[in-house]
Amino acid sequence: MHGNNLYDAIVIGGGPAGSTAATVLASKGRRVVLLEKEKFPRYHIGESLLPYTYFPLQRIGLIDRMKASHFPKKFSVQFVSSDGRASQPFYFFTPLKHEAAATWQVLRSEFDQMLLDNARAQGAEVREETMVRQMIQENGAVTGVRAVGKNGETLEFHAPITIDASGRDAFAVTRNGWKVRDPYLNKIAVWTYYQGALRDPGVDEGATTIAYLPHKGWFWYIPLPEDIVSVGAVAEKTYLYNGTRDLASIFHHEVAINVWVQQHLAPGRQTGPYRVTGEYSYRSRYCAADGLVLIGDAFAFLDPVFSSGVFLALRSGELAADAVDAALTTGNVSASQFSDYGAQMRKGIEAMRKLVYTFYDLEFSFRKFVDHYPHLHGDLTDCLMGNLFRDFDPLFEAVAKFAAVPEPLEHGSPLIEGR
Ligand SMILES: Cc1cc2nc3c(=O)[nH]c(=O)nc-3n(C[C@H](O)[C@H](O)[C@H](O)COP(=O)(O)OP(=O)(O)OC[C@H]3O[C@@H](n4cnc5c(N)ncnc54)[C@H](O)[C@@H]3O)c2cc1C
Repeated sequence: MHGNNLYDAIVIGGGPAGSTAATVLASKGRRVVLLEKEKFPRYHIGESLLPYTYFPLQRIGLIDRMKASHFPKKFSVQFVSSDGRASQPFYFFTPLKHEAAATWQVLRSEFDQMLLDNARAQGAEVREETMVRQMIQENGAVTGVRAVGKNGETLEFHAPITIDASGRDAFAVTRNGWKVRDPYLNKIAVWTYYQGALRDPGVDEGATTIAYLPHKGWFWYIPLPEDIVSVGAVAEKTYLYNGTRDLASIFHHEVAINVWVQQHLAPGRQTGPYRVTGEYSYRSRYCAADGLVLIGDAFAFLDPVFSSGVFLALRSGELAADAVDAALTTGNVSASQFSDYGAQMRKGIEAMRKLVYTFYDLEFSFRKFVDHYPHLHGDLTDCLMGNLFRDFDPLFEAVAKFAAVPEPLEHGSPLIEGR
């Protein structure tokens, strides 16, 4: 079946999800083409990893390179109250006796390049500056894509299965009208970078700090290589856009509210543009259709707060690639082959979604909760570290006594015609 431009699988997008899926499939001997519209390295937000990112990174053979990189090691998360008081850091190595407990803060331009190069090295054909414009369908099934190459030429690629890893461009979701917004999560983020801002010493040097703003808004403070810190404010649009749309004014207005953030940024120098993004919380109505499967942000994105995006991208890339490989072996790439994949992802995403809702519940205190239910401390820390694919019913039944826990969203299973 290997003719010209005829592949086993097509991957749209070379972010963490797409590179992982392409690597797993190529390492199984599948003929994969990955189409990426940008020329790497390219800027991307999403810099803080979760400990459980270790396992998909291990599977695609990148742990040694991560260890040898200049990415700061992240051992902990700390929370800072809106009056500027820092909590005791939550160290991942306390509950997790595994080297995964030391994770990383990454420069996404370099991290994504590393993953893409790895996909190439494992045998995937990677084509940068190639933008997918259209899906080719036969008898209702996706059988390929039409793309535009860097010189404006139209290209066609054919395969029994296409993996949409196009991130928040959400290629299939947008074209098929599958986007379902989260009913409650509706934040925006305004962020920039500082050079020379304060870092805590020693083991806390690479810690993520989450600093509260009033009304459950918050700042992230993420130390990156070369003395750069990524710092951003997240809150309701109506709150942040109150009075001005100028990003620098919005950002500095919020900095002035939290004394910890203000003091940490004071010795530093702001660098690069101020950036903004919003309306990012959604899920696709379907995770798959005949000849098509969605992974990473192209399937769902929750919220930046617990840094779950890159982990879910890698994990979905890995799970979907395994399902694609099995489907190619049986010769049946219809949507029904992705039911288990969809169910697994929805379970993991729902656990994290409940935790995110809890974070935004004004009445909820994680500290008080753990005082009440010390035996659920492990469940909570598992969720925070990305150990998401297990049973969290006892945890969220208890959480529901203190906070409004959302019902699971129905959408995200495969599109199986006739059901
Ligand atoms: C404000 C904010 C802060 C965040 N912070 C964190 C964090 O701290 N930690 C964390 O883990 N996550 C974070 N995230 C989430 C994280 O950015 C994403 O979850 C992650 O990048 C998803 O990876 P992906 O591979 O699915 O998509 P992406 O990384 O977006 O990759 C998609 C790729 O597809 C390419 N593409 C798109 N359309 C096409 C097309 N038509 N043809 C060809 N190529 C195409 C794009 O160029 C891109 O390279 C944050 C998100 C936001 C919005």
